Amino acid sequence: MPKCVCVITEFREGKFRRVSFEVASEGRRIADALGAHLCAIVIGSGVTEKASELGAYGVETVYVTDDPALEHYLTETYVTVTAAIIKACDPAVVILPASVNGKDLGARLAARLEVGLAQDCVEVICDKGIIKAKWPIFAGKCFAWSEWTEGTIPFISCRPNVMDCLMPDETKKPSVEVIKVPIPEARSRVQRVDLDTAGKIELTEANIIISGGRGMKDASNYAMLEELAALLGAAVGASRAAVDSGWRPHSDQVGQTGKVVNPNLYIAVGISGAIQHLAGMGSSKFIVAVNKDSDAPIFSKADYGVVADLFQFIPAFTEEVRKYKTTCS
Ligand SMILES: Cc1cc2nc3c(=O)[nH]c(=O)nc-3n(C[C@H](O)[C@H](O)[C@H](O)COP(=O)(O)OP(=O)(O)OC[C@H]3O[C@@H](n4cnc5c(N)ncnc54)[C@H](O)[C@@H]3O)c2cc1C
Repeated sequence: MPKCVCVITEFREGKFRRVSFEVASEGRRIADALGAHLCAIVIGSGVTEKASELGAYGVETVYVTDDPALEHYLTETYVTVTAAIIKACDPAVVILPASVNGKDLGARLAARLEVGLAQDCVEVICDKGIIKAKWPIFAGKCFAWSEWTEGTIPFISCRPNVMDCLMPDETKKPSVEVIKVPIPEARSRVQRVDLDTAGKIELTEANIIISGGRGMKDASNYAMLEELAALLGAAVGASRAAVDSGWRPHSDQVGQTGKVVNPNLYIAVGISGAIQHLAGMGSSKFIVAVNKDSDAPIFSKADYGVVADLFQFIPAFTEEVRKYKTTCS
């Protein structure tokens, strides 16, 4: 049997992030194609008792390093610990999430292990035993396929919300091995100050996103989108124009220089649809655009378009959603 396929998971605030199950599922598919074993790396604080949850997604062995010093992601500590575990399990393929932390970790790990990284991939295949990964280039205008020269490990980060999760099978339990790795004291160059999620739905993991652009005209008008988002269980995003105007924080920005999102439903409100914005949301499953200009480029990408003044449409639509929810509950 060839060596194992290894997936790197993400754990935050007492639970696995959904993208961990996506990479585990993708790892399972690749391991099956190679006839290999599937292992996962879980590091953090208080993670040991949750590690076996990965068995439901086909993971056979989980390597765990559990230490209070690993409670929060810090590049220096996470790279050192993860690299030590990867060297010990000697995998044939490594897959990790292309989340904000995953992109950082992947790049550093690839340099440390001297392997080639295909970042932010949207498809991975095993073609007669050869791993190939597809990733968007030129702001998503086209795609490139990467494959690795013989003797090097395919090292792949997968875009969140793209890879399908396997149907979980709770009866499957992996073996859990606790690995002790000396944890370097984080050097003083980087310090974790705060993580302000305040109950917000993470954009990269959201099922529905409502984003507002320059058409929103003022920061206070986002209350309208927040209200609708609360009814739909959606996250609120923004275009760069809105962020540059100081109406929303940069963490809400969707696009080439913001976050790449892939929700089931993306509602673009008062956003023109510049190529740099489309680079971040163009792969959403359904796109709805609300814009008063019928020639706005966003309509050529949208599945449904509403040509209207957003200040009339959004309150009316919110009211309809509220009525619908009341009737259904
Ligand atoms: C290197 C680079 C990187 C960039 N990265 C990003 C990025 O990550 N994300 C990003 O978003 N942009 C990015 N941009 C900027 C991008 O080019 C656009 O300038 C930006 O996306 C425009 O934002 P917008 O659509 O909100 O504003 P606009 O283009 O000004 O569009 C506003 C829209 O609102 C509509 N509107 C106005 N009033 C109403 C109303 N009352 N009702 C309904 N509709 C209304 C208008 O018809 C218009 O279509 C980048 C640019 C560069 C050069």
